[in-house]
Amino acid sequence: MNRNSAFSYLCNACGLCCHNKVITLSPYDVIRLARAARVSTREAIDRFTIRRGSVLKFSDRGACVALEGTRCGIHSGRPLACRLYPLGIERIEDAHSEKFVKLEPAAGSLGVYGIEGDVDDFLAAQGVDEYLAANARYASLLAVFRERIAATIDFDRVEPREFWRRAVREALAESNYDTNPLIDAIFDAGGIGDIAEAEVITAHIQRLAEKIRCESNAEMLAAAAVMLAVSLGYSPAEVQQPNP
Ligand code: SF4
Repeated sequence: MNRNSAFSYLCNACGLCCHNKVITLSPYDVIRLARAARVSTREAIDRFTIRRGSVLKFSDRGACVALEGTRCGIHSGRPLACRLYPLGIERIEDAHSEKFVKLEPAAGSLGVYGIEGDVDDFLAAQGVDEYLAANARYASLLAVFRERIAATIDFDRVEPREFWRRAVREALAESNYDTNPLIDAIFDAGGIGDIAEAEVITAHIQRLAEKIRCESNAEMLAAAAVMLAVSLGYSPAEVQQPNP
């Protein structure tokens, strides 16, 4: 499906789609979660996420920790994946193309699918484009990572595939991962208070770029680069290629 494809979806707030999911978060998702819950990004990470801020937290009974009854307790700051649902987004051919896929409804869902509009109408109603725009800004850091990794490691002496395999394992580990201040900084934009969102993002990206350029541990850089890429919807392999 593309943005002009016929599509509509009526949510009837049954809450079933807010169970048993794996929802990857971007740095911008965490900023929005924090704003909606009126807490710092550090507190939002602790309260709503697992895997260092990169995945939404679900309880042992399968419900998202932000679910209140059958309603989202942070509706104004719900993550991109929740806004897109029941669509998923896939990039095709190159980083600047996209396609949309219809996801399977949760068993027993009261949501109603239809064709009373198009995908673009649905995305606009869900406020999706500001998330995509913010993610594109964060994606500019992947080039900074690549440049710094190239400057800190000699791939004539280190086997590249093994190096990147370790980076992916470290980035995606559920537990027992090494301390990595760069990954912490990716998801923790700091105190966001009432500061305008564009300013928060600009300052966060600048701080991250400075941290990346000052870091000389290639393993730490690579794990953080993979984590950022995955959080923005890229595959880990794309971190190693120019201009994803
Ligand atoms: S953040 Fe809100 S919309 Fe998303 S899964 Fe949790 S309760 Fe549902």
